[in-house]
Amino acid sequence: MTPDPHRARPRNGVGPQAALAPDSGVAAAAPGPVVDMGEFGAYAGAHRIAAVEGDGELVRVTWDDGATAAFHRLWLRDNCACADCRHPQTRERTVKLVDIAEPGRPEVVADGDGALTCTWADGHVSRFDPTWLRQRRPEADAAAQPTPRLWTAQRMADGLPSVDHQSVMHTDDGLCRWLDALSRDGAALITDGPSDLNEVVRVAERIGWPRETNFGRHFDVQSKPNPNNAAYTAIRLEPHVDLPNWQRSPDFQFLYCLENEAEGGESLLVDGFAVAGALAQEDPEAYETLCTLPIDFRFQDADNDIRFRAPVIGRDADGQVCEIRFNNWIRDAQPMAPETAERFYRGYRRFWELLRDPAYMIRFPLKPGCMMAFDNLRVLHGREEFFPNTGKRHLQGCYIDRDLVESRLRVLERG
Ligand SMILES: [Zn+2]
Repeated sequence: MTPDPHRARPRNGVGPQAALAPDSGVAAAAPGPVVDMGEFGAYAGAHRIAAVEGDGELVRVTWDDGATAAFHRLWLRDNCACADCRHPQTRERTVKLVDIAEPGRPEVVADGDGALTCTWADGHVSRFDPTWLRQRRPEADAAAQPTPRLWTAQRMADGLPSVDHQSVMHTDDGLCRWLDALSRDGAALITDGPSDLNEVVRVAERIGWPRETNFGRHFDVQSKPNPNNAAYTAIRLEPHVDLPNWQRSPDFQFLYCLENEAEGGESLLVDGFAVAGALAQEDPEAYETLCTLPIDFRFQDADNDIRFRAPVIGRDADGQVCEIRFNNWIRDAQPMAPETAERFYRGYRRFWELLRDPAYMIRFPLKPGCMMAFDNLRVLHGREEFFPNTGKRHLQGCYIDRDLVESRLRVLERG
């Protein structure tokens, strides 16, 4: 199919690779892969395998520029990409190590194409593309993880990264630039859009589909009679993440401004990962408390009672901060031993003070036709008090899963 940059992608957009403009040169300049490994992503490269040797359980590979790597023989057998081992259409693994005989140590050779060929004890032959294998060197794995660009108020002094609505909605390049900024900085704006009801959902559908919650597929942020949430009042909202009372809190939040004539109501954003880092430096004991002490969060109304217990600062298996659960109004009245309360309130107060610190927090009016998006588990959001009798204020919001955001970006970036 012919790439058409002005055509909106299908809403679940897993269609053919029309993402890159024909003149981007990414696919055209590089030679094709040596071995079909059944990947959509680019793995054609200049370096061929120059030498291989078996070494006990390992296969040692040397590329023609001197780069080396060692692969375990079972890893190689498991990752064979032949039509018997990987389904040619679904690209999923079909070989089951549990069902095949112990493969033994393979006979290995760097063949004439610069690929690795392994011949196993039962006669099965596996071939590996030199660049595909190079991308999967064990030591390359850590560097492949995208690292967030943490920010302070000073770094965002000129405003959030932004892309205009027309470009995001109608060009793959615009959508790609916006999603890239959103995933690295944890926050990005769309500007100059229409003030149409439910436009926030149409933006989400450009990526995937909204994540529904007890507040619906999307929600209206305006002062309402009989509110069941602080966002539906006019009071100041301290920086917070949405729905930490869910085991799976929403990953990203979109807030689209339709009307903002009321006085006050400026938006607040703060990079919670940057603030957590600052707390770790300044007060390691407080940081450790917030990372390890489980806290109860709870939302209750006539129809729901949704609760979850987790530390305020979440860390991943590598010890890196991976989520923030800070939302003072839905923190539950949790039973707490006095000595625990002493530790908790000291750390919680200091973290909260840092979240409010103008060195970290940015503050700006969200204009009609603008949409702010942020990583709900990293960038805390809030707003100043507004005065409903001075004019209308109407925002619409929705949530979307990280899987969909990252998937759309990967598909757009395919070479
Ligand atoms: Zn195979």
